[in-house]
Parts: sequence; structure tokens; C-alpha cells
Amino acid sequence: MNATVALNLPPASGAPASAIALYNRPSADHAAHVQQAQDLLRQAAACGPVAQASSLGAEDMVITHLINQLQLRISIFVLETGALHAQTLALLQQVQAQQATRAHAPLTVYHPDAQAVAQFVAREGQDAMYRSLALRKACCAIRKLEPLGRALAGQRGWISGLRREQSDARADVPLADDSEVASKGLTKYNPLANWTWGDVWHYIHIHQVPYNPLHDQFMPSIGCAPCTRAITLGEDFRSGRWWWESESARECGLHVKQRAADSASAAAAAPQSSPAPTQNQPKR
Ligand code: SF4
Repeated sequence: MNATVALNLPPASGAPASAIALYNRPSADHAAHVQQAQDLLRQAAACGPVAQASSLGAEDMVITHLINQLQLRISIFVLETGALHAQTLALLQQVQAQQATRAHAPLTVYHPDAQAVAQFVAREGQDAMYRSLALRKACCAIRKLEPLGRALAGQRGWISGLRREQSDARADVPLADDSEVASKGLTKYNPLANWTWGDVWHYIHIHQVPYNPLHDQFMPSIGCAPCTRAITLGEDFRSGRWWWESESARECGLHVKQRAADSASAAAAAPQSSPAPTQNQPKR
């Protein structure tokens, strides 16, 4: 399955529509999906310590709302890569203020190692990610994977907003993934695994969950600014992420098994120079 984003088409007047107006279309199983997510979050909290990895995207905002609604002891972390959109940073501030009053779910922001970022940018340039897959992965390793390792230290589990509908690579996402318990001591919980995009936006609408306004600009999946673009009608859900790469490569490594090996080899393999693509290179 290669899911395209289901749309309620905007009004004929041409007036800009909000993401809620565009996507609020619950599945027939919406209530069951909410119940399933609540049950899984309760199960995760009981196995703590457990943390939610939040990108501040629509799915993660729903999960944070569920955690707060159920008053579960689940901490939240955000990887502030140093390359996020201004809109994402503004939402981060809002969620930080919100969670400051929620002792059961404190929010921690993790930043990359400043020296590692500075050295990488000095050596490879600001736009290195467009020049090769190895350089893109090296950037992700520095800005995301190393901070992720710190965020997960001491945890027994983590929670993500992965959904099966998002991409072929995620079509088999389990609700609870125990495959890395032996190697890393971590269970990964995916409470929205069965949710549709319409379910996500129906929940946001019903519960007035705050969301990133970039979702109003046809960005269903939001990451770092240089690596996210708006999609058009008929494109699949994650086609706005690393769009210059082949579809199979479009993961940052956060949700790829054997993460440590990947990130180490990516950093080691990063060439000093590579041919630069000329098509679709975004304006910074
Ligand atoms: S998503 Fe892009 S900017 Fe962000 S860490 Fe990865 S390559 Fe770097």
C-alpha cells in the first residue's frame, strides 16, 4: 500500500482551507482506534519508564493529548535539530508551556552536539544533504540519531506516531514492537498504527488539539525545513520528505532497525564532495 492523502476538497470559492477542513474524515473504526491507542498507552506507562518521541506533527500532538487526558506517567522529548521551521519552533514553545503544568508528562528538548554540527557544516556546507544519500544520513546522524540515543538512555520503552498508512515501509508497523528488547532493552509502542489520516484530524478537530500550521500548507509530514516540502494532490503521504531521494531511502533512521550501525557507517562514509543535484533543489 502506498497511501495518498485523502482530501475533502476545498470550497469552490477558492478560500484557503484548514487542515481540519481538508482531512477531517474519520474511519468507521475511529472509536475503536481511539480505545486501542488509550489501552496501549496505559500498557506502556505500566512498563515504564517510557517516553514519547514527539516531532510535533499531527500524530504526535494527538498522542500527547491522549497522554494528558489519561494523566499517564509518560515523559515527552523533542529533538530540536537546529533546522526546524519557525512554525515548528513556535508550536514547541506552546507545548513546552502546556507540559510545564503536567508533572506526569514533562517535556525535554534535546539538541545536537553543537561542535559536531559546526564541523559538519564547515566541511560539507549547509546543503550537504542534497548532494548524496551518505551526506544526508550523516546530517541525520548528527542532528537526530545521536540526540535520540541520549533521549532514550534509561528508558524501557518509547512511543512513536507511526501509522501503517503512511508508507510501504511502515505497512507492517506493530502496535508494540519487542524486537529490540534483547539488544537495546526497549519496546517501541505505536498507538496510532491502525489510525487513518482522517482519524488523526477528526481527533484534532473534536478535541481542539493544537497543530503545526504547516499542515494547512499541504505538508502532512513535517521534519527539518531543508528536507520538507508541500505535496500536491495524488502524491503519497511522505513524498514531501527527502523528495530528491528514492522512496525506499526516505527515513531519517529514527525508525530504522540497527540504528547505531547505520549512523556510524553513514558518518564514516560521508564523502568530502559529491555531485550536486540540479533538479528540485529547494530554496533555503
Ligand atoms: S532531516 Fe535534513 S536537515 Fe534534518 S537532520 Fe536530516 S538531513 Fe539534516
